Amino acid sequence: MTEKIVVDGMLGNIAKWLRLLGIDVHYERNMDDDKLLELALKENAILITGDEELSYKAFRRRIKAIYIRSKLPKAIAIKQILAELNLKKDDLKIGSRCIACNNLLKPIKKETLIGKIPDKVLEFNHEFWYCERCDKIYWYGSHWRNIEKELKVLFS
Ligand SMILES: [Zn+2]
Repeated sequence: MTEKIVVDGMLGNIAKWLRLLGIDVHYERNMDDDKLLELALKENAILITGDEELSYKAFRRRIKAIYIRSKLPKAIAIKQILAELNLKKDDLKIGSRCIACNNLLKPIKKETLIGKIPDKVLEFNHEFWYCERCDKIYWYGSHWRNIEKELKVLFS
């Protein structure tokens, strides 16, 4: 999976979910249309937008764009995107990226985290990942169970 994705500012939730699925996503909340198009062109990226007008602009500049109706339920929107990108569940590295910044996460040893995260978390979890850019530590906490539920819906 080598395709780069640029997601427009109105689709922050979608951007997060695509990152969670391991997809390389460039997302900034405040980027105007011209900047988005410029970036997609420069990076040879696919633009995902909730703005139909912008998707036409992209087509005219030969940028591949996926238009997502903004009122679409998230799971349906993500399904549409995966279908258009021709990605199946097996193609994805779920949980491999930082949701906040898109950086690839690195596994980090539990021993190095003593004092940095709550003892309880250390006690009940065994695998941890680290984002060097955000200095953020990830683990399969209780929130992950909700994510798994959503993933089930997504890939059902
Ligand atoms: Zn990060």
